[in-house]
Amino acid sequence: MKRVYNFSAGPSMLPLPVLEKAQKELPDYRDSGMSVMELSHRSGLFTDIITEAESLLRDLMQIPDQYKVLFLQGGASQQFAMVPMNLLVNSGKAEYVNTGSWSKKAIKEAKKFGDINVIASSEDENFTYIPKITQDMIDPEADYVHITTNNTIEGTTFRNIPDTGDVPLVADMSSNILSEEIDVSKFGIIYAGAQKNIGPAGLTVVIVREDLIGKAKETCPTMLNYQTHSESGSLHNTPPTFAIYMAKLVFEWLNELGGLKEMQKRNEKKAQMLYDFIAKSDFYASPVKEDSRSIMNIPFVIPDYDVDAAFVKAAQEEGLETLKGHRSVGGMRASIYNAMPVEGVEALVSFMEKFEKENK
Ligand SMILES: *Cc1c(COP(=O)(O)O)cnc(C)c1O
Repeated sequence: MKRVYNFSAGPSMLPLPVLEKAQKELPDYRDSGMSVMELSHRSGLFTDIITEAESLLRDLMQIPDQYKVLFLQGGASQQFAMVPMNLLVNSGKAEYVNTGSWSKKAIKEAKKFGDINVIASSEDENFTYIPKITQDMIDPEADYVHITTNNTIEGTTFRNIPDTGDVPLVADMSSNILSEEIDVSKFGIIYAGAQKNIGPAGLTVVIVREDLIGKAKETCPTMLNYQTHSESGSLHNTPPTFAIYMAKLVFEWLNELGGLKEMQKRNEKKAQMLYDFIAKSDFYASPVKEDSRSIMNIPFVIPDYDVDAAFVKAAQEEGLETLKGHRSVGGMRASIYNAMPVEGVEALVSFMEKFEKENK
């Protein structure tokens, strides 16, 4: 069997033990004579899967009781619309922080629904840093503040979660959910597409404080109303059953490894290894300001030589996949989510060392 180190930003690597468990259980799930894909979403076996998935996620993230966990579809991109449709219901005003391509898309979509104010942006410096957000920047009447906690394309991250006072904080956490310990109580809503750090594509996890549910206008489509999914335990219609099952296996794997505290330690170690190597090299460089660097998505460039394509190709030949940077940033990008083992980062650093010697 061939397995590569896949540095893709998403869909990304899944842990091998999870894939192997799914493979083992595939044709006959728990003596049902069916695969999970063939089970009714109303069956006892699937009820156990979705209940267990939620309970594992609650444990891992220490989600307080007054939050609902929803398993939806439509990706993080659908949340760009669902958030304003459900939350822009009092003043009709919301505050957004523009820290990159995904923030921009969230802002563009929200503008269809109300009065959207961009309170801070790092676009002036190509999104290479995270602007400081203080409470005096926030209109106390705003219905919510929206941030992208980790900017997948630009490789920046909020090291400190802003204090928004009584205004609910909404976070697109697609690319750093489950990567470290966070205090869920600081947020009104956390949402994430699953395909980066949770499981396969097709599932979107939304963690929403109960008081923010049930406020959407009458005209809000049923499927886009948080209340619909909250009242039905994410079973209003057929949910992405297999993706939920895979997410459950990932949550079990995280638990076995010691939970988010342990993951954070591993992730910081992996990222540090790469950043330290880039810092001491005069061939590679990081475009991101030091205090804003992501531990999940690490872009790097080779400023003085025109060898990006050669780098990506040679890396691929050594089993280091998908290192090409996003078209809007260029250079290279290593996405090192939870499922990327330390050995993968070590292999990348050795390759980078060798490539530097051969191309400088
Ligand atoms: C990948 C990503 C998205 C888009 O997710 P989809 O599930 O494809 O809609 C949005 N925001 C961030 C931060 C992402 O990393």
